[in-house]
Amino acid sequence: MEFELPEDLKLLQATVREFVERELIPIEMTIPAAEETPAEILEPLQAKAREMGLWLIDVPEELGGAGLGLLARCVVGEEVARTAALPFRGNFLFGPQLSPVLLECDERQRETYVYPLLRGEKRACFAQTEPDAGADPSSMTTRAERTGDGWTITGVKRFITLAHRADFATVLAVTDPEAPRGHQISCFLVDMDTPGVRLERSWPTMMGDAPWEVVFDDVRVPEENLVGEQGAGFALGQRFLTVGRVHGHGAVPVGIAQRALELMMDYARVRVTFGAPLAERQAVQFMIADSAIEIHAARLMVHRCAWRYDQGLDTRDESYMVKVYCSEMVNRVLDRAIQIHGSIGLTTDLPLERWFRQMRSIRITEGATEVMRWRLARNLLRARP
Ligand SMILES: Cc1cc2nc3c(=O)[nH]c(=O)nc-3n(C[C@H](O)[C@H](O)[C@H](O)COP(=O)(O)OP(=O)(O)OC[C@H]3O[C@@H](n4cnc5c(N)ncnc54)[C@H](O)[C@@H]3O)c2cc1C
Repeated sequence: MEFELPEDLKLLQATVREFVERELIPIEMTIPAAEETPAEILEPLQAKAREMGLWLIDVPEELGGAGLGLLARCVVGEEVARTAALPFRGNFLFGPQLSPVLLECDERQRETYVYPLLRGEKRACFAQTEPDAGADPSSMTTRAERTGDGWTITGVKRFITLAHRADFATVLAVTDPEAPRGHQISCFLVDMDTPGVRLERSWPTMMGDAPWEVVFDDVRVPEENLVGEQGAGFALGQRFLTVGRVHGHGAVPVGIAQRALELMMDYARVRVTFGAPLAERQAVQFMIADSAIEIHAARLMVHRCAWRYDQGLDTRDESYMVKVYCSEMVNRVLDRAIQIHGSIGLTTDLPLERWFRQMRSIRITEGATEVMRWRLARNLLRARP
């Protein structure tokens, strides 16, 4: 059994850590918490990342990326999450993010959508959630009906991240309501300037981002924009969410919690109350120790799940565990970090309050923790003879 990261990933980790310490942490509090990094800040950073060979790290080699996989993405994601300089969603420091759904595109779809996306010429959004279908996407009502030589899509999608910047959307819609469960939904690529696509309103959140409601009103989509097989949409959407759970809701909270632990230890050493540094108080030491234990457990869970994903093994249940544990762990660690900092922890001088608001969201998005627990328990019970 091998618990160490392979040497190439250790090198990658050290390189990214050094980059984050040198380029990002010093400027992090000057960058407003927003959905996207302003281009004048992002582009010079991207140029440096490219020079260092940190570009399209997890994109398959056949598509022009480094092909390092999900474990590499998680190792890098944890390091980058240690700074509040970049948004925790939609972080494009190491190039455009390619959702696993788009890996299913055929060559024609790649030419029109995937390669332009990887070159930075087109941007994408992912549209699954609806006003009445969030935690339970199988209850979606957006319909795609065969009309002529293509499809007509009608429905409303809600909370779609960066829809206003997207050139195309990956849209999940019901193609056959009579098909067996899991085979009713298909996945389509829809150009956002197609007649009938309308940005209805944005929903500003406590995290600083503002996802969009998008209306699809008799939107005509050619046959060649169906991704994968008809009826495969639900499985494709779940694949997208699995990667999100392990990276965005696993590795990213581990990185944020790690930095919060570093900040709480640094502060506990220098802050003196009642004649002694906070670091000498057992109540504070326990908060530090509990945080370190939980971060350690979370990191191991993320690495193992990502490694298994890269081997093509089943990670469904493990990804639920990662999501639940990491998303709750980071909320506990941030709460302790703010507590140890006292009032200064509540101010915008430190990244803690920003992360506290942002990390509250990941217990809900891309699979509420209750739903993850429910699915996990159901699978465990089914598997027990
Ligand atoms: C900032 C942001 C960005 C987003 N970006 C996207 C995006 O790009 N694309 C996209 O498609 N969606 C996106 N979403 C939507 C997000 O994934 C959904 O909001 C999420 O899945 C929850 O759906 P809901 O809000 O409808 O909650 P509901 O389905 O109404 O559930 C509400 C609550 O009920 C509880 N619950 C639900 N089911 C169960 C159960 N079976 N057992 C026990 N408790 C349960 C949970 O506590 C849950 O939080 C985004 C949301 C936000 C806030």
